[in-house]
Amino acid sequence: MADPDCIFCKIVAGELPATIVDEDERTIAFMDIAPATRGHALVIPRTHSRDLLDASPEDFAATALAARRLAGRAKERLGADGVNLLNSCGRAAWQTVFHLHIHVIPRYRDDPLRLPWVPSEGDPLEIAAAAQELAAG
Ligand code: 5GP
Ligand code: ZN
Repeated sequence: MADPDCIFCKIVAGELPATIVDEDERTIAFMDIAPATRGHALVIPRTHSRDLLDASPEDFAATALAARRLAGRAKERLGADGVNLLNSCGRAAWQTVFHLHIHVIPRYRDDPLRLPWVPSEGDPLEIAAAAQELAAG
């Protein structure tokens, strides 16, 4: 079901312009209007879902596969040296558009993009405690 207030649903419906670079039965991929690097695109399911937890397993799987396809193309066609796939789920995780999307961000050796996460050594006890809460079963 399309959400009348959702800009990505409007792109799916052709009511808002977008530069579409790939599509299949379940997904479309289009260029991000504010690219982090050259070739930055977004892959979305045609059917509205707010985020990765709200999407059906089939839509999420199709979106992930389409993102991988585009990542391969970024390397082949754009000469990317690497690719970041990024998904933000929820405002606290930087999500700003609430229709599931995976960013496909081509990376180039020495490109200036810096994701705001600087790994620093973790506390082993805290890692173990989080793992205990997270573990299946
Ligand atoms: P988020 O912050 O939710 O992970 O990512 C939303 C992305 O959508 C941003 O990178 C932003 O530049 C992009 N975006 C927002 N509005 C539009 C739009 O109208 N058209 C396109 N092509 N991209 C958009
Ligand atoms: Zn939508």
